[in-house]
Amino acid sequence: MAHGLKGIKTVRDFEFTNKNVFLRLDLNVPIEKGVITDETRITASLPTIQYILERGGKLVLASHLGRPKTAADKQYSMEPVAKRLSDLLHAEVILVEDPMSSSAVKHMLATLKKNQLLILENVRFVEGETKDSEEFAQKMASYSDIYINDAFGASHRAHATIHALPRLVPQKGIGLLIEKEINMLDSLLETPKRPYIAVMGGAKVSDKIAVIEKLIDLVDGFVIGGAMAYTFLKASGAAVGKSLVEQDKVRYAAEMIERVAARNKTLLLPVDHIVSTGMADFNARTTTGVTIEDKDMGLDIGPQTLRNFSNLIKEAGTVFWNGPMGVFETKEFSKGTFGLAKAIAESQAVKIVGGGDSAAAAEASGFASQMTHISTGGGASLEYLQGEKMPGLDAVRMKHGRYE
Ligand code: AMP
Repeated sequence: MAHGLKGIKTVRDFEFTNKNVFLRLDLNVPIEKGVITDETRITASLPTIQYILERGGKLVLASHLGRPKTAADKQYSMEPVAKRLSDLLHAEVILVEDPMSSSAVKHMLATLKKNQLLILENVRFVEGETKDSEEFAQKMASYSDIYINDAFGASHRAHATIHALPRLVPQKGIGLLIEKEINMLDSLLETPKRPYIAVMGGAKVSDKIAVIEKLIDLVDGFVIGGAMAYTFLKASGAAVGKSLVEQDKVRYAAEMIERVAARNKTLLLPVDHIVSTGMADFNARTTTGVTIEDKDMGLDIGPQTLRNFSNLIKEAGTVFWNGPMGVFETKEFSKGTFGLAKAIAESQAVKIVGGGDSAAAAEASGFASQMTHISTGGGASLEYLQGEKMPGLDAVRMKHGRYE
């Protein structure tokens, strides 16, 4: 049973005029030498910011960025994000350098003009953020009339701006992005259009076991590619050469193959591969069958595998895609992942892409705009699907007429 949005207010439930609104976003974007290399999370945050601004709310934005060790770690400053937001919003986004200084924020809020908003410097510059500190939360609560969480990608963490803070602010709810993310993920858990196919890939079986366990009774079939496929192929007795295999998961994989068969569900594994002698050898070759020679490593699915996977996806009613089919960051090993993205994009199914590497792969494939939804939170979307607690949602949820 999905826990969903029950008991949670959204931005539509508040009167924002002249209210100080603390808006927690996930603006954790990749930045190289001061330049933002992927601004998906910024653009995904705009609708909620604009919604509140248009209704007269005085905004204090906050987010984490990377994993800074101290506040002196300036490579993790929110400054480039503040600049980009200013451009996109045609507004002045003022950076508050010390997130702990509630007096500075109060002063700025008191004199804030119509076309201005505040953004706190990286909340992880404050040690108390990841410790869910009450003291840090008190500071932020002291100037917040309304708390809104729209940081889906961080809502599986009990951190101060996600968990301790909303508990101290009487008026609280979620933004438009979280609402959409949860509705999309709930559609996978509750009434998915059938057949429902889970496409799993990426580096490790161990990272995906919990979600496989959840999906095994929900889906009609699995498609498994990427490095994790080699653990399954090994379990089924195929020769996998030097491909990445998690030895301690071979038994799990063998059992899963049996469990899926016992439920009369489909499980497609690669039947051919793109191989080379290692990740740094770009002399890619296609195998003629499932066998990989001892000197070779499987680095992408082969053309017959792509056809098999695509045929199944073509007939699907719902596709959940998590994890690339190969080392898609390298051109020579990207065809399987991009071909699969094309097959998913062209299918009539409801197609939902888990975040992280799958979102990056969907973007790089050029087919991102044809997906029904691409999650902005990799870890968060998997944890939600697995049925884990989401501290960021529970802290704004009313249960039996009361908050947590
Ligand atoms: P994950 O974060 O688990 O989704 O894994 C994504 C990573 O898996 C990407 O960086 C891919 O390059 C890598 N990957 C996918 N297939 C393979 C493979 N066959 N061998 C090695 N790495 C792979």
